[in-house]
Amino acid sequence: MRKKIVAGNWKMNTTLPQGVELAKEVNDALASRCPACDVVICVPFTHLAPVAGVIDQTKLGLGAENCADHASGAYTGEVSAPMVASTGATYVILGHSERRQYYGETAETLRNKVALALENNLTPIFCIGEVLAEREAGSHFDVVKAQIEEGLFNLSADQFSKIILAYEPVWAIGTGKTATDDQAQEMHAFIRSVIAGKYGQEVADNTSILYGGSCKPSNAKALFAKPDVDGGLIGGASLKADDFMGIVDAWN
Ligand code: PEP
Repeated sequence: MRKKIVAGNWKMNTTLPQGVELAKEVNDALASRCPACDVVICVPFTHLAPVAGVIDQTKLGLGAENCADHASGAYTGEVSAPMVASTGATYVILGHSERRQYYGETAETLRNKVALALENNLTPIFCIGEVLAEREAGSHFDVVKAQIEEGLFNLSADQFSKIILAYEPVWAIGTGKTATDDQAQEMHAFIRSVIAGKYGQEVADNTSILYGGSCKPSNAKALFAKPDVDGGLIGGASLKADDFMGIVDAWN
């Protein structure tokens, strides 16, 4: 059966000492718990190797927030999937709406990134989601379906089974406006049906689909109670160990 997962996305927050401290706090909080889900933190590139040195990755997974669409070469300032993997990280967020919106990531770029992540044994957390105007126009299902088809449907079933999806309605990210649990369930069930149409029901049933967008301890339990919501990708609330653990505990 599919995994329940709570993953933090620190974005461009924390200096290195602050980040190492936060990672230690989350790690220590997990040491005294038996969480009912997998727990992952995705941190800035500069923090990966030092954080890998202070956490127990049997209890707390580590990921990057992005990787390059090339394996190596003359791409000044980029960080490749092999580089990320060499730090000890095993996850990578790809296709976050902020990357699509501010850095012009296209479906083609994302296909290359996904392929390189998989080749380097990194588990992609692949983000999809509509903007407010698309939801208001009633095109949100079409938008999300196209993002999945264009970004991922070149994969074999075996490759696809290594992907974690994160549905993040852009209007809910960092805005304090969470999708209702019914809105999340409706979209997650739709996403699962799109996957089933391409790869079959078994692959669809085994795919973890996380919800992201202003998820916090106070709303996580209701969201996670929905049958197709398999956990959360958490931005702001992952920057405080207590809040993040409150979301992890929502699975208990
Ligand atoms: C995110 O950026 O992935 C996210 C879900 O952010 P927030 O939780 O702050 O809305």
